[in-house]
Amino acid sequence: MKRYSVFAIAREAMRYHQGWEKAWASPAPKKKYDVVIVGAGGHGLATAYYLGKNFGITNVAIIEKGWLGGGNTGRNTTIIRSNYLQDPSAAIYEKARGLYETMSQDLNYNVMFSPRGVMMLAQTEAEIRGYKRTAQANAYQGVKTEFIGAERVKELCPIIRIDGPRYPVLGALWQERGGTARHDAVAWGYARACSNMGMDIIQQCEVTAVTQENGKVTGVETSKGHIGCNKLASLVAGNSGHLANMAGFNLPMESVALQALVSEPIKPCMDVVVMANTVHGYMSQSDKGEMVIGGGTDAFNNFTQRGSFHHIEETVRALIETFPMVSRLKMLRQWGGIVDVTGDRSPIISKTPLGNMFINGGWGTGGFKSIPGSGWAMAELVANGEPGPLAAEFGLDRFRQGRFIDESVAAGVAH
Ligand SMILES: Cc1cc2nc3c(=O)[nH]c(=O)nc-3n(C[C@H](O)[C@H](O)[C@H](O)COP(=O)(O)OP(=O)(O)OC[C@H]3O[C@@H](n4cnc5c(N)ncnc54)[C@H](O)[C@@H]3O)c2cc1C
Repeated sequence: MKRYSVFAIAREAMRYHQGWEKAWASPAPKKKYDVVIVGAGGHGLATAYYLGKNFGITNVAIIEKGWLGGGNTGRNTTIIRSNYLQDPSAAIYEKARGLYETMSQDLNYNVMFSPRGVMMLAQTEAEIRGYKRTAQANAYQGVKTEFIGAERVKELCPIIRIDGPRYPVLGALWQERGGTARHDAVAWGYARACSNMGMDIIQQCEVTAVTQENGKVTGVETSKGHIGCNKLASLVAGNSGHLANMAGFNLPMESVALQALVSEPIKPCMDVVVMANTVHGYMSQSDKGEMVIGGGTDAFNNFTQRGSFHHIEETVRALIETFPMVSRLKMLRQWGGIVDVTGDRSPIISKTPLGNMFINGGWGTGGFKSIPGSGWAMAELVANGEPGPLAAEFGLDRFRQGRFIDESVAAGVAH
């Protein structure tokens, strides 16, 4: 496959861009693969990529019922940060954030990583205490964050209202190298690299059953027929429960809709990401100028990929009190994704009761930022059959043993 470069762009410009080849192939499925990955979201594609890159395993199929990146990976608000409280979380999210720093070069695909800085506002005394504690934990974990005062918040984000009507801004947890990336580009970049390694990305192909023999997976039934495999990996986010049920076990996980909206594009006015957990809303500005806004999850389980209207009202109300200029904006689009939420708000990267099936899910409202770290750890688990250091604490057995990795605070507004 041709390398993307400034020379390639110049060459193609001279010949009316006729020479670009397709970024990834669309093959028919083979009868059998070493590894079948269900779900061509960021996590599935990243797992495939690191299976090839780190372990030389390339006889891999990535099976997707819709189109690649069409799940939560293409629906999120793209916030990247690693300021989590617990050690295992900080380790995997910081690994991911580090991989984002060089992702465009590694994949030869511009994922538009923009480390513009992320701040989580403290608007109550309890939040101040919580974020100071996280900043302290991050210092021990080697994650660079700091607690900043209200004046610095205003300096970094002039459109913010410090003396809000209900909750004044008292400070913030600030991660300077947090930021955003273009979410579709992350999926497309990994897909192109996987296809380049000879892996098969099979879209419009729904897995409907998991076939087994003597307690081991033999393959999957799909809308394109049976596909055999030596190992099966499930990375289907909000559909994780369904996949597990097909294989005969349950997951301690719920699926709920989470929604986001964007405004009409306006002039650049905000070059950081701001999350306001107490009033419940968060905002950043996209490269196109739209204000990207996110809110909370529905309080009931569903698979609608829509989200309910009252959340839009609540989110916009929260943002208007934090950023009064929002009241003058027109909203352009709204959408939802189905996120997979665990009780401790931490992911599952785990072996399953079936020896050769592995599961990665439960990233809930915040799994875009973890895509490269999660793929790295999952590839290690699938290749070796045992978790490496990044995944070791995220096994399913933690729910039975009461070893929760409580991130309910770090995952407040989430993301
Ligand atoms: C509105 C919203 C905002 C968010 N904001 C952020 C944020 O700012 N920062 C952040 O870090 N995270 C955020 N997230 C969370 C993040 O998007 C997800 O955690 C992450 O994208 C999950 O990626 P994935 O690859 O696991 O899942 P997905 O991208 O959903 O991919 C799973 C794929 O599996 C496919 N699939 C499902 N069932 C089957 C089947 N039976 N057969 C074949 N294929 C199947 C689906 O079609 C889907 O494409 C947000 C999510 C939403 C919805």
